[in-house]
Amino acid sequence: MTIPFSAVEAAKMIKTKKISAIELTTEAFSAIKNVELSVSACITTLENEALDRARVVQTRIDAGEAHSPLFGVPMMVKDNICVKGVAATCGSKMLGNFTPPYNASVYERLLEAGAILTAKTNLDEFAMGGSTETSYFGVTKNPWDVTRVAGGSSGGSAAAVASGETFYALGSDTGGSIRQPCSFCGVSGIKPTYGAVSRYGLIAYASSLDQIGPIGADIRDCAAVLSIITGKDPKDSTSVEQSAGLDEDLSSMIAETDPIDIAGMRVGIPADYFGDGLDNGVKAAVMNAAKILEGLGASLVDIKLPLVKYAVPAYYVIACAEASSNLSRYDGVKYGFSSGETENLDQLYVNTRGEGFGAEVKRRVMLGSFVLSSGYFDAYYKKGLQARELIQRDFFSAFELCDVILSPTAPTVAYKIGENISDPVKMYLGDIYTVSVNLAGLPAVVIPCGFSDDMPVGMQLTGRRFDEKTLIKTAWAFQKNTDFHVKRPSIWKEGVK
Ligand code: GLN
Repeated sequence: MTIPFSAVEAAKMIKTKKISAIELTTEAFSAIKNVELSVSACITTLENEALDRARVVQTRIDAGEAHSPLFGVPMMVKDNICVKGVAATCGSKMLGNFTPPYNASVYERLLEAGAILTAKTNLDEFAMGGSTETSYFGVTKNPWDVTRVAGGSSGGSAAAVASGETFYALGSDTGGSIRQPCSFCGVSGIKPTYGAVSRYGLIAYASSLDQIGPIGADIRDCAAVLSIITGKDPKDSTSVEQSAGLDEDLSSMIAETDPIDIAGMRVGIPADYFGDGLDNGVKAAVMNAAKILEGLGASLVDIKLPLVKYAVPAYYVIACAEASSNLSRYDGVKYGFSSGETENLDQLYVNTRGEGFGAEVKRRVMLGSFVLSSGYFDAYYKKGLQARELIQRDFFSAFELCDVILSPTAPTVAYKIGENISDPVKMYLGDIYTVSVNLAGLPAVVIPCGFSDDMPVGMQLTGRRFDEKTLIKTAWAFQKNTDFHVKRPSIWKEGVK
């Protein structure tokens, strides 16, 4: 029996009794065993727990209770999202011994929808990074070429989907952490509108930017996950109910009852995103995607987003400021790593934070404390907030001319492990196309659209707030007419050790 790539298709097989949730979970672990040694996508694997859970889920399926589009499908969760009783390390020594006593709301919702958790996935320490190289638990490798990075910070989740270890995974995105690894690994992902998904149980990096979202083999799988996790949660006051109709639209798309038609869709092409610094192969793949969309009836519109040059500095000022505040809770007293016996409390803080955090986290805490300090607040933090406001306005004006914005996701394809890690500024500049979306609180999707240097290239579609529907529709129309998303790295089949 061939197991499909798609989580939605796998769920259909379960529902029609072609395969059981237990068999599918067993298959998932055989894939994990085949590739995990080469890819290192996971921090914790949960084979016994998953098989126990699969048996419970199967009983519900047998009782006719498989009510969600993903019921009985194995999945993974990024290790900065809390699952009760399972370590949530956040890729850090600081939380290496932390086991949350509660579930994140997104996970609660997925449990109710029949999800089977097989592993917690690797990430850059505290989600700070773009290559999963800053994880305390080692580097995740790109399944297309294991000498290259998987991207980050949700590198483990993207690599696990790309290598066939899981059908879908949750990631989090503060400045591109779902989208950039999707681009690097040739898989699909959604960064939802700020507030569309509850952050309760997501270990905070920068609270005004963080969102949880799905990574999957295609955009329909991601839409299915989003339909489950989106919505108001009383435990997160920044979460809101999605605009009416999203559920119905997603359900009909998932069930493929209505044909997808994007005729007349206005696709904005920001010239400012296609200039210096963009790799030629990436540019060619994204421009080709624009042609494909045009061929499907969309019209291409030139738009301007001139403030993109301020996005990276504004993002790093704001994200680091929030991080320095959020990470002040790790003090060796309440939970997580503690350096142990010291002469006094101050020394305990210094030792714990000195030993528990890695270099990148320390750099950001220092930068954040600096921009928030009384002498520099106006010059940096306040300026950052002002730039953020202007960037939002740039997007709002652009959306008067178009319905979605097409852009690259990252300036390059996945680079070699170790190539950029010693140059933080170069790493930060890699976030140029993604961070402005978080600053403006907008939704964006990334889907594969070609190859450069034999590595996948992902295109980014950005939309209006709470208009995930249009993005998903456009992306699904693209995927129904192309085959980039069904291409798989050779590791998928061979299980190279
Ligand atoms: N690469 C960006 C950063 O390092 C984004 C990270 C993220 O989205 N979590 O901050």
